[in-house]
Amino acid sequence: MHQIADFNETATAHQNNEELLVKAKTLEEFEDVLDKIFVKYGIKPEKNAVFISISCPDDQSSSVLSHVVMRNKHKEDTSQHYLVYNRCVFGGIFVPGFKTFESLIPATHHIPNDAKNVVVLNFTHIGYDEESKKWGEFKRYGHNHTSASCGAIVTLYNLIKQNKDIGLQDEDLKELGMFLRNLLLKEPIEEKEDGSHILELTLKAFDEQSKWLIEELKKLSKKESINVFYLGGLEVDTNKDGKEFNDLIFLKKAAMIRDGEVEEITYDEM
Ligand SMILES: [Zn+2]
Repeated sequence: MHQIADFNETATAHQNNEELLVKAKTLEEFEDVLDKIFVKYGIKPEKNAVFISISCPDDQSSSVLSHVVMRNKHKEDTSQHYLVYNRCVFGGIFVPGFKTFESLIPATHHIPNDAKNVVVLNFTHIGYDEESKKWGEFKRYGHNHTSASCGAIVTLYNLIKQNKDIGLQDEDLKELGMFLRNLLLKEPIEEKEDGSHILELTLKAFDEQSKWLIEELKKLSKKESINVFYLGGLEVDTNKDGKEFNDLIFLKKAAMIRDGEVEEITYDEM
C-alpha cells in the first residue's frame, strides 16, 4: 500500500499558521486541481461519477461543493449536471468507530451510465476573521459580528474544557464530543489568544478521521467494485461582508482507491 500524500506537514505542526493561509487555494484554484485530476483519471462527474460530499451541515462551510456545482451550471451544455450525495456530519468529521462506509453505499447506486467512479470531498472547516486575525470565528452572511466556526467543534471544545459531561442528547454531537475529548486527552493543546488552538484541534481531528475514512473507503471500493477518488482538508471560512465564495481551501490528503488499494497522489500532480 502506498503512503497517502500529506501535503502540509509544516503547517500541521502549527509552526506557522500564516503559512497555512498562504498555501491555501482559492476556490478557482481548487477547481483547476479538480479538473486536472479528472482529466488524468477519466472522471466526468456529469457522465460517469457521483460526488460524495462529507462536510458540516453548516451551509457556509461547504463552499467547495457549492462553487463546483454553480460553475457547472454556467456551462453551455445545460443537460450536464453534477450528481451529489451529501453526507452531512458535524464538523465534516467522519467520526472513527461511529460513522461507517455503509452510509455511503447509496451514492454508488446513483452513478450514471453504470460507471464506477465516486469523488469524495471531505472538508472540515474553521472560521478566520481577517480583521482580528482570530481563528475559530468569522462574519456570516448578513451579520456585522463574528460567530463560532465550526460551531459544533467550538461548542464541544468549550464543554470539554469545563470538564463537564458533554451533556448533549444528540448522538452525532455526543460521539464527536467524545472523539475530540479523546484527542485532547492524548495530546493536550495550549489555549491561544488568537484562537489557533481551535485550528490545531480541527487539523488533528481531520487527520485522525481521514485515516479512518480512507479505511472505510477501501471497504466501499471493494464491496461495490468502484473507484474512489478522495480529496480532503480544511475549508477556511472568511468574513462574508456581502462577498460570495471567498473561502480558502487547504488540501491535506488526496488518494485514488481502487479495489481496496490506495494510490498516492502527490502535490506535484495537482
Ligand atoms: Zn461546522
